[in-house]
Amino acid sequence: MKRIGVIGGGQLAWMMASAAQELGIKVVIQTPDATDVAVSLAEEVVFAAVDDVAATKLLATKCDVITFENEFVDLDGLGKLDAVFLPPLAALAPLLDKYTQRCYLRDLGLPVPKFAALAQPELPPGFEFPVVVKARRNGYDGQGTFMIEAKSVLADLYHRYPDTPFLVEEFVKFDRELAVIAARGASGEVVTYPILETQQQEQVCRRVFTLDDLSEQTIEICRSIASKLLISLDAVGVFGIELFATCDGRVLVNEIAPRTHNSGHLTIEACATSQFSQLIRAVAGLPLGSTELTCGGAVMVNLLGYEDSQDDYLLKRQAISAIPNAFVHWYGKQSRIGRKLGHVTVLVGIDPNKTPQNSRQQAEALARQVEAIWSE
Ligand code: ADP
Repeated sequence: MKRIGVIGGGQLAWMMASAAQELGIKVVIQTPDATDVAVSLAEEVVFAAVDDVAATKLLATKCDVITFENEFVDLDGLGKLDAVFLPPLAALAPLLDKYTQRCYLRDLGLPVPKFAALAQPELPPGFEFPVVVKARRNGYDGQGTFMIEAKSVLADLYHRYPDTPFLVEEFVKFDRELAVIAARGASGEVVTYPILETQQQEQVCRRVFTLDDLSEQTIEICRSIASKLLISLDAVGVFGIELFATCDGRVLVNEIAPRTHNSGHLTIEACATSQFSQLIRAVAGLPLGSTELTCGGAVMVNLLGYEDSQDDYLLKRQAISAIPNAFVHWYGKQSRIGRKLGHVTVLVGIDPNKTPQNSRQQAEALARQVEAIWSE
């Protein structure tokens, strides 16, 4: 395997390209803009939108296999190309629409929140406010996800987005949100990373923690969900699986991303093989690497833009980098309010002279320290 094509040129593609370089594999990307962060690491670039099928046809002539950083592609169009995609297009097909994704998971016997397609601004029978209404396609970082508490708000949403197909689901009372990054290799082997906790604010991921207090039973449920899903999809690649651990002790699947995921960024420093290296390994047909933690624990904090400006937040980045065992990844994007501009992972419990203890408390304190510097 010499060259991997990647559809998308943002931070995920950038981290993929960096991992590929370490494995001696070149990356060719398809992305619209020369300022996209992955452009600097790509061997070659096809400048085009991610759903431009003619551009992907060209991309296919420049690489051995094509993978995705972004799933907002024209699946039907790609299906007509003579190209190898990993994950295969058939594995992506049920996942790109949130409603068909929920149906797929339910039919596979996996636990999901109660859901229904929303055909009119009326709650279907069996639903009560509050509910969560989601655009079926192209939602990310909470864009397209709405917490709806009353009939009038639902009617207003319909009024604002008359052409958007929605699904509705019960508002899940969760104790915490979990994520599992899982990979399946070309030989069919499935591996899962340590189960993580993700914390969202206004539906945007802010922090991710490793966990040391999950019951064996919950760990096993999360792992078996991941493995059942990847085997059923006949997937090859890395998948991010978001879950709710409910207040009444259940685990429900929230969402599947058929690609590397924000919740897995801490694997770069905290695990033997990063999610990006794992993806390259899977797609290149190499044996998968170990997913073990190589430290006591870790926390990842997203650095979100808080102004629309050219500011590169250099002093703040330097101050965060000065925290012991902190690793800042800066994507070099123009700042917009709420935009993910970078992330920092801080490792805990790696001092060989101390017994690792209270790593969660340490991680919480470190997350607060990062956020205080970022927002001061
Ligand atoms: P996106 O694809 O934009 O990330 P998600 O479906 O993952 O959207 O939702 C974003 C966040 O909104 C979740 O991480 C969770 O905090 C909240 N959320 C989503 N669905 C529900 C639900 N059914 N009940 C309660 N909270 C939800």
